Amino acid sequence: MITIKHLSKSYIDPDGSVFTVLKDVNCEINPGEVISIIGPSGTGKSTFLRAINLLDPPTGGEIIVDGENILAKGYPLNKLRQKMGMVFQSFNLFEHMSILDNVTFAPMKLRHLTRQQAEEEAMAMLRKVGMAEKANVMPSDLSGGQKQRVAIARCLAMHPEVILFDEPTSALDPTMVGEVLSVLRQLASEGMTMLIVTHEMKFAHDVSTRIFFMNEGIIYEDGTPEQIFDHPVHSATKAFVQRIHKLVFEVDGPDYDILDVHSQMGGFCNKYNIAAKRDAADRITDLMIQSVMSTRYPFTLRLTYSEQYDTTALDFMKEGTDQSPLQQPGCDPQTLDTLRSLCKEIIEEPTKRGFRVKFIL
Ligand code: ADP
Ligand code: MG
Repeated sequence: MITIKHLSKSYIDPDGSVFTVLKDVNCEINPGEVISIIGPSGTGKSTFLRAINLLDPPTGGEIIVDGENILAKGYPLNKLRQKMGMVFQSFNLFEHMSILDNVTFAPMKLRHLTRQQAEEEAMAMLRKVGMAEKANVMPSDLSGGQKQRVAIARCLAMHPEVILFDEPTSALDPTMVGEVLSVLRQLASEGMTMLIVTHEMKFAHDVSTRIFFMNEGIIYEDGTPEQIFDHPVHSATKAFVQRIHKLVFEVDGPDYDILDVHSQMGGFCNKYNIAAKRDAADRITDLMIQSVMSTRYPFTLRLTYSEQYDTTALDFMKEGTDQSPLQQPGCDPQTLDTLRSLCKEIIEEPTKRGFRVKFIL
C-alpha cells in the first residue's frame, strides 16, 4: 500500500548549516496494519508523518502509494488528501464551524457530495465516535477528548485508506485519554490502516501489528510488539521501552571526585523515588573503588533504574578484558561476601568490549 525508500528531510538553519531530521527511512505499510511509532522526542516522528502526507515534503527518497510515486511532479495533492487522513495532537478543528460543518466541509468540497449526502454520512461518522448528539454545537463547547473524537470523525468522512495520528492523546487531560484510545481500538479492529505516533506504551503493545522505534532520524528497530517490548535487539530500544534512566561516570584514576559521585547518586535516587537503594549504592561504590577496581582504572560506573520493571542496578564496566574483577586475586572472599550481602544479585557478564559486574539493588 505504501512503500517508503530512503526518505530524508533536512532543514537549512538561518546560519546556513544543514540540519538533517530524517536520515534514511525505509519501510513498507500493508493494508490493515496498525503501526505505532514510538521513540524519544525530537527524533523525527512528526516530521516523518508530515513528510508522508506531504504537509512538509521530504528532501529526498521515494514514497509510493498504491503504486504511484507521490513525490513525482504533477501528482494530484487532492488525491492524496482523500487517501490519507491525519489527526493532530491539537485537534485542528475549524473553530468557527459547528461540529457537523467540520465533518461535512471536506466531503462536500473534495468528494463533491451534496449537503444532504454529506450530512447523512457525517452523522453516521459522529455516531461511530459517540459524538452524534453534539452535531450542532461549536468546538469550543467540547472537551479535549470530544474534540479529538470529532477530528477522527472528520477524517473518516473522507473514506481514507490510511490515517496518520500524531500523538492523538498527548494534549488530553488523563481522564480523556481512554475515550480516544477506545475509538482507535475500534478502528483497528475494523481493519483501518493506521500509523500512530504515541507515548501510550500499553496501547501500542496491545493494538499494533507492528512497532517502529524511531531514533536519530531512522527507524532504528521494527518488529512485532512482542519483539520490540519484550525482546528488543538494540540497547537504545531497550532503554526506551523499559524507561531506563541512568547516571554514568567514567572513573579515570584514584583522584576521581568520589564525593561528587555520591552526591549525584543521591540526587538520582531521590528523583526516581528509590531513596531506599541509596545506602547500598554508596557502600558498594566505595568498596569497589577502594579495593576491587583500585587497580583497574579507567572503568565506567553506572547507576540505572528501569521504571517499567522498578529495578535498580549498579554496574562497573572495564574495557579490554574478559576477566571478572570479582575473581581472585583481585577480590578477596571477605569483600565478595560483603558485596553479596549488600545486593539482591550479582551478575558477572562479558560484553562486546569488555567485562561488566552488575549489582541488582
Ligand atoms: P518528534 O515528533 O519525534 O518529537 P519532530 O519531528 O517534531 O520530532 O522534530 C525533529 C527535529 O526536527 C527537532 O529537533 C525539531 O526541532 C526539528 N524540526 C522540526 N520542524 C522543523 C522546522 N520546520 N525547521 C527546523 N527544524 C525543525
Ligand atoms: Mg512529535
